[in-house]
Amino acid sequence: MIENIYIEHTISNNKIVKDIIKKIKAKNIIKCDSYREIFNLKKQNFILQKKNPSMILAQKKNNLVLKTPAKFNIGSKNNYYFSHMLNCLFDCEYCFLQGMYRSANYVIFTNYHSFKSEIKKISEFHKNEAVHFFSGYDCDSLALENITSFAKVFIPYFKKIKNAYLELRTKSTNIKNILAFEPSDNIILAWSLNPNEITKNYENKTPSLKKRLEVIKKLQKLGWQVGLRFDPLIYHDNFNRIYGDFFKSVFCELDSDRIHSITLGTLRLPKSFFSTLKNLGKANLFSKHKFEDKLYNYKKIDRDKMLSFCYKQILENVDKKKVFFN
Ligand code: SF4
Repeated sequence: MIENIYIEHTISNNKIVKDIIKKIKAKNIIKCDSYREIFNLKKQNFILQKKNPSMILAQKKNNLVLKTPAKFNIGSKNNYYFSHMLNCLFDCEYCFLQGMYRSANYVIFTNYHSFKSEIKKISEFHKNEAVHFFSGYDCDSLALENITSFAKVFIPYFKKIKNAYLELRTKSTNIKNILAFEPSDNIILAWSLNPNEITKNYENKTPSLKKRLEVIKKLQKLGWQVGLRFDPLIYHDNFNRIYGDFFKSVFCELDSDRIHSITLGTLRLPKSFFSTLKNLGKANLFSKHKFEDKLYNYKKIDRDKMLSFCYKQILENVDKKKVFFN
């Protein structure tokens, strides 16, 4: 699958690095000084690279854990995100990572211990309050779990910190490592969901809605509270019918009492990311967008309609205290 692995030479003897190399069996292993030499090269073509990405094993040295934008929360006032990985196995048409990075190569930051100590420091700083840490911000939290063992390492770590909550956000059905753990209140497994019509057409390489619902059901039966992320909502000529049927089937399949939280958001992008997507010829889904409120988004009147329709469907099944607008 992966032909080339680049490794920062200072970490080439680390156990986690050796384990990943064993699993990948790449044709070429190439040492480098810093991941930036490869990842930030000018004149890279994201779309071409996405067809055959390389992997880069690196150390994250600065800004390991950052505050989320103000609206990005699921009920705590203390919200942070961190990325053990940049880029994603999946290939959603609308993915903002295409606008954010020049490269589609996967970067895995293997210094998990540095993330852990930063998380510990922040949790101690907010010691009398809940702190939420979001992990699927610049990647999908579980899609490459077989290689990264991210959940396997971080779930037990978070279980030990009373006021810290970890959200793993994913479209993957790769839950093998999760099944090894007992459910825990401070681990929020969250699935991004969209109707079949959207998933089939725009969420390339992702598991079908049916498969995602199957794993969520399985986890709920085992006692996990699961988050649902209806984000991004995507405009469709038959929006109300498609999303109406979708919510009916989601809430018919799932146990509403075992839903931890729900977030809602329409398809949106910062201006610079939009320009990059346009240059890459990937802006078709943004043809109805306008630059409003510092983002390329649907016109306010349209997004209000989309959000209020979905909100209404959701409130028929879930308490409004659990629903958040991102
Ligand atoms: S799953 Fe998320 S991160 Fe991965 S390609 Fe789709 S939008 Fe991007």
